[in-house]
Amino acid sequence: MEYNCPLVNMEIDETVCYDIQMVTGNMINKRILQDYGFDVDDSLITKERSDRLCSVCPFNQLMQTAHVVGKTATA
Ligand code: SF4
Repeated sequence: MEYNCPLVNMEIDETVCYDIQMVTGNMINKRILQDYGFDVDDSLITKERSDRLCSVCPFNQLMQTAHVVGKTATA
C-alpha cells in the first residue's frame, strides 16, 4: 500500500513508513534510509517532525497496532 506521507512529502509504502518511524524513534540506524534513496541528513526526517506528524497520521501502522493491543489488553 502506498501512502502520501506528510513527513517526507512523497508517496511511500508501509515498509518505508515503518522504517522512518524506527529511525526517528532511535530503534534502528538512520543509514537504512539510504536504501530508500533518502538523504540521511535530510531535515525532513527528524524526531521532532515525526512526533508531530506521525502521531496524528492516518497511515501510522504503529499507532493502529497500539490501539489494537490496547483494546486486547483491556478486553
Ligand atoms: S506515519 Fe509518519 S512516516 Fe508514516 S506515512 Fe505517516 S507521516 Fe509518513
